[in-house]
Amino acid sequence: MTKEASAPQDKPVFGASGRKIIYDKDGKPCRSCNTLLDFQMATGGMNKAPQKAKTEVAAPAASKETDVYAKVDPPDVEKLGRSSWTLLHSIAATYPENPSNKQQADMKQFLKLFGNFYPCWFCAEDFEKYMAKNEPTTDTQDHLGKWLCEAHNDVNKKLGKPEFDCNLWKKRWKDGWE
Ligand SMILES: Cc1cc2nc3c(=O)[nH]c(=O)nc-3n(C[C@H](O)[C@H](O)[C@H](O)COP(=O)(O)OP(=O)(O)OC[C@H]3O[C@@H](n4cnc5c(N)ncnc54)[C@H](O)[C@@H]3O)c2cc1C
Repeated sequence: MTKEASAPQDKPVFGASGRKIIYDKDGKPCRSCNTLLDFQMATGGMNKAPQKAKTEVAAPAASKETDVYAKVDPPDVEKLGRSSWTLLHSIAATYPENPSNKQQADMKQFLKLFGNFYPCWFCAEDFEKYMAKNEPTTDTQDHLGKWLCEAHNDVNKKLGKPEFDCNLWKKRWKDGWE
């Protein structure tokens, strides 16, 4: 997995957000570890007019065959995070209420591999450390949902975001509020 390098000499250390800019070993800013604005700053894109994230709304009717897809950029750390949490909590919402031993082992393996391959490498390192200290509880759907909620809260705390009430995880990710 790609790892951190300190900021190359001619590159900024902090981004517009005030956060440290994360660089990969090859000295390039890590796209999936930084916010879009910080990434643009590190790549010199801030000299141009700041680009807003392109939306994923369907593109207008294509004029050529090659224009079929809107040119959406790869995700930054926030978009990647939102999509990933959506996937993880939604998986918990459809995990069996009473899983077999194999399903429990498979889920543990999935979470381990997810941590191994998560594109934001420093997020992945912290997630792996969290799992080493707090083994995933996979014996029931509710335990898995709560474990994920607590893992998510651990990141929320680190980022100074409010913590979610884990007794409500099913309302948010399975049953809906009313
Ligand atoms: C494994 C992992 C590790 C990450 N590590 C980092 C990191 O180290 N640094 C970093 O900058 N970003 C990290 N991220 C991304 C970060 O957690 C956020 O996804 C990102 O900052 C966008 O945040 P958001 O406020 O849009 O909502 P998100 O935190 O993405 O949450 C999406 C929605 O989930 C719901 N929610 C919030 N908290 C909980 C909870 N505890 N349980 C259930 N539902 C909840 C809310 O409805 C919220 O709107 C990580 C993401 C993942 C998947």
